[in-house]
Amino acid sequence: MKNLIVSKLSNKQPTKDISLDDIKYKIPKVTSKKNVVIKISKDVTFSKKTIPIIAGPNGVENRELMFKIAKFLKKNGMHIIRGHAYKPLTFPYRSKSYKESLDIGMDWMDEVKKYTGMSVVTELTEIKYLERVCKTADILQIGSRNMQNLELLREAALTGYPIILKRHFGASLRDMLGAAEHILVEGNNKLILCERGIAAPHTHKETSRFMLDVQAIVALKEIVKYPIISDPSHASFWAPWVSNLAYASIASGCDGLIIEMHPTPSKSAVDPLQPLNFRQFKNFLKQANKVSKVFKRKII
Ligand code: PEP
Ligand code: MN
Repeated sequence: MKNLIVSKLSNKQPTKDISLDDIKYKIPKVTSKKNVVIKISKDVTFSKKTIPIIAGPNGVENRELMFKIAKFLKKNGMHIIRGHAYKPLTFPYRSKSYKESLDIGMDWMDEVKKYTGMSVVTELTEIKYLERVCKTADILQIGSRNMQNLELLREAALTGYPIILKRHFGASLRDMLGAAEHILVEGNNKLILCERGIAAPHTHKETSRFMLDVQAIVALKEIVKYPIISDPSHASFWAPWVSNLAYASIASGCDGLIIEMHPTPSKSAVDPLQPLNFRQFKNFLKQANKVSKVFKRKII
């Protein structure tokens, strides 16, 4: 009987769950017991004590928008702004209002960064954009749709930049950690893992595409020392739920949050239902500070 259990635990067969063999042979780096602290700037460190907020719009739509948001965030004590100049879309058709701002968008982000001193998170969608992205970004985001784009992971890792790796909405934790291992094996230890919701039937809301897997945060924290951040905006797709899901993420032990926001959400060129407006963001911050204190963490 004992042998049977042991042989099950050291599972030699491929499985969707993480086995002891996996930890030993397949994902030894990402499950290493060494404590990880990732310093982004003088103001921002991902650590056991801090919960950095990465806030901003979905896309870098225009210069004015980015300045407006950056000034608001800065005034409210935020240090990291997000926004994507290059963007993968689920469907190939684009609304009239939406255009990828591409290199020009990165130039606007550059101006915003110089003006505010904030750190920049932006998505790297293809290797050909790597050079331009690296000129401005402080953290490279690998989107969920690219989680297993191994060439992209490798090239991103080789830059030495901090990387946010988002879990694909259909991927197991095992597959996610396998992808993370591809980054670590290139010698880049500045890895941040992001839970951003999984596809599952779960709700009365047809606008809510994904379900935030808070259990994944707790489970990952058990075996991974790299920061685990949460993106309730992309998970719920629905602004009225974002704050509560963020508090649940903090209670689950997350080490950072991605919060999408926009001065006029209904005018957001992509996903207008999910960004918080300025008032909602301020309220969120107030509550998030209280919740994080309960867990002896500090929102930054
Ligand atoms: C995003 O962060 O804007 C995004 C598209 O996220 P995801 O890859 O999780 O869908
Ligand atoms: Mn988005």
